[in-house]
Amino acid sequence: MKCNLLLVLGIGILGIGCSKKVYTSENTVYKDKAAALADTIKNPPTIRTKYADSLVMTDHWLGTSNFNLRKPNLVIIHHTAQNSCEQTFNTFRSESTQVSAHYVICRDGIIQHMLNDYLRAWHAGIGTWDNITDVNSASIGIELDNNGNEPFSDKQINSLIQLLGYLKKTYNIPNANFIGHADVAPGRKVDPSAYFPWQKLAYEGFGYWYSDTTGVNVPESFNALEALRIVGYDVKDSAKAISAFKLHFEHKGIPETFLTPADRKIIFTLYRKYL
Ligand SMILES: [Zn+2]
Repeated sequence: MKCNLLLVLGIGILGIGCSKKVYTSENTVYKDKAAALADTIKNPPTIRTKYADSLVMTDHWLGTSNFNLRKPNLVIIHHTAQNSCEQTFNTFRSESTQVSAHYVICRDGIIQHMLNDYLRAWHAGIGTWDNITDVNSASIGIELDNNGNEPFSDKQINSLIQLLGYLKKTYNIPNANFIGHADVAPGRKVDPSAYFPWQKLAYEGFGYWYSDTTGVNVPESFNALEALRIVGYDVKDSAKAISAFKLHFEHKGIPETFLTPADRKIIFTLYRKYL
């Protein structure tokens, strides 16, 4: 059974689609894992438990009185590469797939919350952004229902912008930290696709966009690859970093691994926004 709720969030009204199956008794795996993690937090971190693997450091435990939950500081946007939200819900609720995300936004604009923002979803895999090497631990993952070869619907993008506004405000996430899966995993991932409207998002305050390059003179000594590293890209493999940059900022769906003078102008106006 599905329901649509309206949550008043201070910044406006956000439509949230919810499927009771996601969190309730039908999802026994979720309940069991959440209970085990709650036990892990309640108990002294001197015992290795089933779902936590790095808490056993010392036998000397006291426990402070002052703490809360860690907050995400990065948002990674994906497309599902599937044909329907139902298909994605099934994928994210099957243990064998080992993939998930915090939110799925369907073509009709319904936002499906899949996992508490404080928990670590498995959406980014191996990847790097700036100095962050465990992207899943730092981020919120948002999947857009899209097969990768089609435009994103206006309703879907409008819902995404509302959700990003809520996340940005709630967790104080900086502009530069709204990026795509392909940005953190160059050469391995190509989502969201070249149809994704990054410029529109940047205009709304989610990610940066380059400035008008008319009349820009790029010094010959300008190191474009170093500039991409400052933006956040892992540039160990320069060809992959360049193709990820071109997907995001030039909508090049077919990988291009070289830089033209026009590309260098774009990078020259872009990277200074990250300094
Ligand atoms: Zn992805």
